[in-house]
Amino acid sequence: MEFRNLKKQYEVLKEEIDKSIITVCQNANFISGTEVKTLENNLAEFSKVKHCISCANGTDALNLVLMAWGIGEGDAVFVPDFTFFATAETVALQGATPIFVDIKKDTFNICANKLEEAIKAVINKGKLTPKVIIPVDLFGLCADYVKIQEIADKYNLLVLSDSAQGYGGAIGNKKAGSFGNATTTSFFPAKPLGCYGDGGAIFTNDADTAQLLRSFAVHGKGIGGKYDNDRIGLNSRLDTIQAAILQVKLNAFKKYELEDINEKADYYTANLKDYVQTPFIPEGYFSSWAQYTLILQSEDQRNSLQAYLKENGIPTMIYYPKVMSEQKAMEKHLPHQVQDCTVAKNMCKVALSLPISPYITKEEQDTVINFIKKFKS
Ligand SMILES: *Cc1c(COP(=O)(O)O)cnc(C)c1O
Repeated sequence: MEFRNLKKQYEVLKEEIDKSIITVCQNANFISGTEVKTLENNLAEFSKVKHCISCANGTDALNLVLMAWGIGEGDAVFVPDFTFFATAETVALQGATPIFVDIKKDTFNICANKLEEAIKAVINKGKLTPKVIIPVDLFGLCADYVKIQEIADKYNLLVLSDSAQGYGGAIGNKKAGSFGNATTTSFFPAKPLGCYGDGGAIFTNDADTAQLLRSFAVHGKGIGGKYDNDRIGLNSRLDTIQAAILQVKLNAFKKYELEDINEKADYYTANLKDYVQTPFIPEGYFSSWAQYTLILQSEDQRNSLQAYLKENGIPTMIYYPKVMSEQKAMEKHLPHQVQDCTVAKNMCKVALSLPISPYITKEEQDTVINFIKKFKS
């Protein structure tokens, strides 16, 4: 069994994907070919956002937004303690200080109450200037943008949505990509919408930010092009081949993948909810299911379930084994921290992600379900 069945997806889409790759090779427009612009337009339309700027990966996407907003030394950027390293890494790379905020017990996402407490505490300390909140759409579920935006407005902060795992998700009819002042996503192969290598994109409704992002992504280019340099930037472009592959995958994503993966998730939940704690999706939220993650009762139970499933040929993953605030790389930022993220730390001990993809079969899911039931009996 595959943890995320990308081989099966390729089998299904092979003809179209092969054709799209060959077309790019024949045209030899490997950098900034027309496929890139077409994809950006289609992504912007899907998310109902004015501007989409593609780039080399989801990490660069975060870096580029922070650069465009001029975030750096002395600035506080609020991030959940439970996320992939890049969310906090990029903040530190720009010279700013990540402030780690605890998560909610059920959604895995940043807790709005804890966020406000952290902002107040940083203001009281008087050492750093609060500038940005980076909510993460962990495991495919949008963060609580309604409450987060209220807090951002109250304290005059920018919101950068890290939707590397959340693309395709929504709250009501508002899609991931349209929350906050800007949204970033990743096309890493295993993300909800993935390419065949690295890729990323940024969404914003702000024309000035969009223009700055296009400059920062290509060596800080000025109006005279890339040999006219107004600022220090990056070389961060999405390859034309990846854009061509993504175009095929985006069509499948819109047409049936998102719906299918939601059916698979519902099937797990219906059959597992009496045995283990299954994911909680708040009313009105639509997840893109980057992961289907159980919460077990203890570290022991989690680890023995993982070992038991492994013995029986079922791959699982632990996202994440360590919080950001306990990473060695973050040591230097510890003196600025304002809360102990106990929920996040505990989650590292009890979370377990099961195999899922739009292409997982009912037989595979039944195998997973039956072994979990057996383990619990
Ligand atoms: C994957 C991921 C990123 C980074 O994306 P890359 O394309 O791998 O650079 C950033 N944030 C989160 C939450 C992620 O899951």
